[in-house]
Amino acid sequence: MSILEYVSLQPYNTFGLDATAHYFCRVQSKSDIQYLIEDEWQYYRQHLIIGGGSNLLFCSNVDGLAIINEIVGIEIIKEDDDYVWIQCLSGTTWHDVVLYCVDRDWYGIENLSLIPGTIGAAPMQNIGAYGAELKDVFEELEAIDLRTAKSKIFSNAACEFGYRESIFKKAEKGNYFIYSVTLKLHKKPKINTAYGDIQKVISEKNILHPTAKDISDAVISIRESKLPNPKVLGNAGSFFKNPEVEKTLALQIQHSHPNLPMYELENGKVKIPAAWLIEQCGWKGKKIGNTGNHAKQALVIVNYGNASGTEIWQHAQQVQLSVNETFGIHLEPEVNVWL
Ligand code: FAD
Ligand code: NAP
Repeated sequence: MSILEYVSLQPYNTFGLDATAHYFCRVQSKSDIQYLIEDEWQYYRQHLIIGGGSNLLFCSNVDGLAIINEIVGIEIIKEDDDYVWIQCLSGTTWHDVVLYCVDRDWYGIENLSLIPGTIGAAPMQNIGAYGAELKDVFEELEAIDLRTAKSKIFSNAACEFGYRESIFKKAEKGNYFIYSVTLKLHKKPKINTAYGDIQKVISEKNILHPTAKDISDAVISIRESKLPNPKVLGNAGSFFKNPEVEKTLALQIQHSHPNLPMYELENGKVKIPAAWLIEQCGWKGKKIGNTGNHAKQALVIVNYGNASGTEIWQHAQQVQLSVNETFGIHLEPEVNVWL
């Protein structure tokens, strides 16, 4: 493994931002990462692990070591009549794991099709879409402690998963390299077509008994019709989390905005789509300089080509401020901002 100097990170982040890593390497095995921690770590002021770079906003250069995760592989480790357990090394592309499962007619992650990035980053924010979350199929992960180079197993409960949250974004932030993730998939059909347009797409194709592949195909076509492709227009998906607010506040807003979409949660709170709040404030499709909010999905902030990370971040903060002033709701960034 070689450590290079002054490498552009532009190919390694989906915003397409031209940040520079002072030092740069690719890890391809457990021993690579252990070697870095034991023999190299101390020499660098900063460290950044990069998977697919699809949830990162570079507002400055990496004044230290950027590590590209290329540790890949999928292995079946156990199965019975009802379930199969697969262990995926963390640099494996998430969508490749989805395809591996749907091709075998295993159920559980088909609703999470086409989410960019690696499986190693998936537990970071408990990726979710179309009524499914990683935590629903997550068995355990192996992480390497960046302070000691020792391995530790985290069970589902130990990861403290929440809505786009986990212990790795909170108490253990920056402390671990996620090395592998084990998922438990259903071998018998267990589908969820209730969310959004999935059922509509399935019905239009006259499919009566959808397979995991049918659901995956439906999700892919819905996503491709709505979301900007980062290869064409730089972005990192939803910039903010969807806020969970007290019901009294939601009812107050509904009084002046009868069309307010809201979803009641088990904890008594109410989830309001951040995209709706942003749209009400006039940001949908608005382009300012080299950045703006996407015309089809206001929650996605895009790079029209020459934006800097700081420009995107300042734009996001303007959006955040206007939603706060208009609705009294603080939008929390979902994207990991490298300041
Ligand atoms: P990166 O951006 O490389 O890293 C994200 C964070 O995780 C960084 O802090 C990084 O240091 C850390 N990290 C990465 N790998 C490791 C590791 N092995 N060990 C420790 N830390 C690590 N997200 C959703 O939840 N649902 C969606 O539907 C969704 N749709 C998206 C659509 C688009 C078009 C885009 C661009 C993004 C979307 N995202 C979505 C966000 C993003 O794809 C996910 O959060 C994804 O899991 C990020 O993976 P990554 O490998 O690109 O992570
Ligand atoms: P959407 O379906 O238009 O929904 C917008 C919002 O309404 C989201 O907050 C969603 O919550 C919520 N919602 C819709 N139907 C719901 C239901 N039946 N029950 C509970 N909440 C519901 O959103 P979209 O932009 O087209 O995205 C579709 C899915 O892909 C969503 O799940 C979204 O989270 C996910 N996605 C995520 C990213 C990212 O970067 N994180 C990017 C693109 C898409 P949830 O967000 O909880 O689903």
